[in-house]
Amino acid sequence: MAFDCVPGGDPRGQWCPKCARPIAESEPKTIMHFREDADDGGLSGKAWHAECARPYWETITRALDILRRATGGS
Ligand SMILES: [Zn+2]
Repeated sequence: MAFDCVPGGDPRGQWCPKCARPIAESEPKTIMHFREDADDGGLSGKAWHAECARPYWETITRALDILRRATGGS
């Protein structure tokens, strides 16, 4: 795997937007969906390293939980 000197990214591989490193097939990854960013930057639907995505997931999960409570669903 020679990803080190491919500055623009390998079109065959997925790159993590957080740390700008390629995501190996063997690495845990998370597909992130930012609803607010759907039209901005194209980050939505990109794969992130699971570790890189975790802080965002916690934020999103908390927001969803608040929303769920606010709408009375459980
Ligand atoms: Zn990453």
